Amino acid sequence: MSSSFAPLAPPKRLLFGPGPSIVAPRVYEAMGQSIVGHLDPFFFQVNEEIRAGLQAAYGTANPFTMAISGTGSAGMEAAISNFVEPGMKLIVFANGFFCDRMTEMGRRQGATVLRFEAPWGQSFDDAAAAEFIRAEKPNAVAFVHGETSTGVFTSGKAICAAAHEVGALTIADCVTSLGTMPINIDTTGIDVAYSCSQKGLSCPPGLSPISCSPRAMDQLKARSTVNHSWYLDLKLLADYYDGARRYHHTAPISMFYALREGLNLILEEGVEARFARHEANHEKLVAGLESLGMEMLVEPGVRMWALHTPKVPAGVNDLDVRKKLMERHGIEIQGGFGPLAGQVFRIGLMGEGSTAANVDLLVGALREALV
Ligand SMILES: *Cc1c(COP(=O)(O)O)cnc(C)c1O
Repeated sequence: MSSSFAPLAPPKRLLFGPGPSIVAPRVYEAMGQSIVGHLDPFFFQVNEEIRAGLQAAYGTANPFTMAISGTGSAGMEAAISNFVEPGMKLIVFANGFFCDRMTEMGRRQGATVLRFEAPWGQSFDDAAAAEFIRAEKPNAVAFVHGETSTGVFTSGKAICAAAHEVGALTIADCVTSLGTMPINIDTTGIDVAYSCSQKGLSCPPGLSPISCSPRAMDQLKARSTVNHSWYLDLKLLADYYDGARRYHHTAPISMFYALREGLNLILEEGVEARFARHEANHEKLVAGLESLGMEMLVEPGVRMWALHTPKVPAGVNDLDVRKKLMERHGIEIQGGFGPLAGQVFRIGLMGEGSTAANVDLLVGALREALV
């Protein structure tokens, strides 16, 4: 006979990596509330509040704005599988790990994927990007708004403008930027945006907020082939969340409570004030890292506010430093990977975690760990 387990006692961690981020205490409390059924009017009311909160954070009036069950990659697969049909031409703007994941998903959908590449850590030249789109005339264009593998921010304005000139749909990975930077879906010209719950929104992993423009929804309605993915078929999901409220799958109710609370924290603070807080703490962290003699990988102007990539100083082993931070302070940061393995640290200041006190804590802990 096996004995039962000891009471669950997770170690205390300070999550300052690329995600998951520190969860707001109020989010944990919301998750402990009693669940209702997935067809209960209360659930749909929560869902309406989530829609309003997401519209504010994303900067959009898109009616089709909701949370998909699954992590950020589920949002990515929903975006690609619903809007990139077999035989279509997809351009992926590729300058990091998550662009590669989009490329792989596009290929699995049977699309012809063309890549417009920039080195990891760099952004794209707007004019060259636009020219490539005009020359290739793709059906869809995808880019990563905040590349968490490198710390590079791509606003997408030039990409979206050129894509719309040739009638292409635009897809943006906003997994780390949602809740930490302005995305402004409508003015940027993004047709399909997706994100996650566990980075800028300070909730646990499990939901993927998605928003689709009326243009994208028209394309979806006109689609002649059936999406090979049943679970992520937005036509079916729209029927559950927005239309007939017909059972599709059992929504993870507690996660919807969490997301509602995470979004409510944003609405209480004010979207603009939240972005300003992330920007100020970003600047403060960069100044602190530079005071330690560290250089940033990414040029000013295209840096994300939620994810920082200082270069590992010469003669320093990044694993040793990360081990010290964890052992001495319970602080989790991450290193680089792929072409950036061993070369950068990845330090996240997301949502709840983006505070001046945390910046001081991080810089102090790094000062000790680097010697
Ligand atoms: C984390 C991340 C993803 C993947 O999200 P998961 O929640 O891990 O599935 C996709 N894109 C970017 C930019 C990310 O940072």
